[in-house]
Amino acid sequence: MLVLVINSGSSSLKYQVRDVEAGSVLAEGLVEKIGMGTGGEGDGEIEGPRDHAEALEQVDAEIHAALGDRELDAVGHRVVHGGERFAEPVLINNEITRAIERLNPLAPLHNPANVLGIRAISKKWPDMPQVAVFDTAFHRTLPEHAWRYAVPEELYANHGIRRYGFHGTSHEYVAHRAAALLDVPLEEFDAVIAHLGNGASVTAIRGGQSVDTSMGFTPLEGLVMGTRSGDLDPSILVFLGRAGWSPEDLDAMLNRQSGLKGLAGNNDMRSVVEAAEAGDARAAMALAVASYRLAKYIGGYHVAVGGAKALVFTAGIGENSHQFRGLVAERLGALGVLLDDGLNRERSKEPRVISTASSAIPVLVVPTDEERAIAEATAAVVAHPASVAP
Ligand code: ADP
Repeated sequence: MLVLVINSGSSSLKYQVRDVEAGSVLAEGLVEKIGMGTGGEGDGEIEGPRDHAEALEQVDAEIHAALGDRELDAVGHRVVHGGERFAEPVLINNEITRAIERLNPLAPLHNPANVLGIRAISKKWPDMPQVAVFDTAFHRTLPEHAWRYAVPEELYANHGIRRYGFHGTSHEYVAHRAAALLDVPLEEFDAVIAHLGNGASVTAIRGGQSVDTSMGFTPLEGLVMGTRSGDLDPSILVFLGRAGWSPEDLDAMLNRQSGLKGLAGNNDMRSVVEAAEAGDARAAMALAVASYRLAKYIGGYHVAVGGAKALVFTAGIGENSHQFRGLVAERLGALGVLLDDGLNRERSKEPRVISTASSAIPVLVVPTDEERAIAEATAAVVAHPASVAP
C-alpha cells in the first residue's frame, strides 16, 4: 500500500510517500512559506504557494516521478490534538474533520493547519481514504491521578484544562521496538522513554501503555527543550503579567526564547555540547539543568511504572548525543544505571543496548520513525476501518 504521510503546519507541509509492505520511502520533502507570498501579479516575486491547496499541487508534482505508474492508496495525517475523544487513529469523514476543528482552541497553532491539509486533499482527491493519527492518542491511557491538575474543577469541565501529552506516535512506536529488542511481550513492558528532539518529552510505560508523560495541556510542560522552558512555577507568569507582560509576550518567552536558547543562547544541542566542551560556562550550566530535569523525571517515572525494565532514548538528541545521554546516566547512579562508554559512543541507525551487562536497568537507543508509524497506522485503518472507530 502506498501512503502519503502529511504533516501540515500553518506555513509548511512536510510529506513522505511510503510503501508500507516494503517499509521503504519513495519520496519525501517539505514545502515552506505557504501563504507568505508577496501576492498577485505586479506585486513582485511570489515566494511560496498561496495556500495549502497550491502546496499540495507542488507535492503532487514532486512525487509524480517517484510514483511512476503506481497510485497513492491513502493519506495519513499527523494531527496534533485528539482531545479526549480520539484514542486511536481514525478514518476521516466530514464529522471527524469538524471534531478535529472543534479542538482548535486546545491547539490553536496546529489543529487548524492539520484541517487545512485534510481539506486540501479532499478537494484534490475526493475519493482518497484519509486517516488522522493523533499525537495525543497514545496517552489516553493515563490514569486520572496523572492527567489532573490540582485546580478548580470548572477549569477542566468548562475549558478542557487537563494533561493530554504529546509525541504519542513516537513513544508508542519506540515502545514496540524496544520491547521487541529486549524480547519482552509488549503487555509486560515497563519502561521510561525519553524522546529528545527540539521538543522533548518523557513517558512512563506500564504494560506497554502510557501511564504518565511530561508534556501536559500543551507541549510546553516538562523537560528543558530547544526553545521551551518546560516546568516552572506558574506564579512567575502572574508576576510578569502584573509587570505588564501581555499573553503574547509570555507565550513567545516560554515557547521561543527559553530552554537551551534561554540558558545557553543556542537552541541546538550539538552546538551547546560543543560550546560546553570548549569551556563555555553557560553551555555547561544549560546541559546540567536539562540533564538534571530529565533525570528527575526518569526517577519519578521509575516509581510510576513500578520499576522500569528499560530506559530508552530516542529522537535527534536521544539518538545522536552520547554526551547528553552520558550526563543523564551519571545522575541515575541511585537506580543502578551504568552505560558502556564504547557502546554509548558507537554511531548506528539500529536499535541497540548501550548499558553494561551489570547495569540494573538496560539502557537503549531506539531510532524513532513517526512517518513510518503513521503510514502503518493508516494502512491498518484503511484495511479494517470499522475495528478501530472511536
Ligand atoms: P524535531 O523535534 O524538530 O524533530 P529532532 O528530533 O531532529 O527534532 O532533534 C533535533 C535536535 O537533535 C537538535 O537539538 C540537534 O542539535 C540534535 N542533534 C542532532 N544530531 C545531533 C548530534 N550528532 N549530536 C548532538 N545533538 C544532535
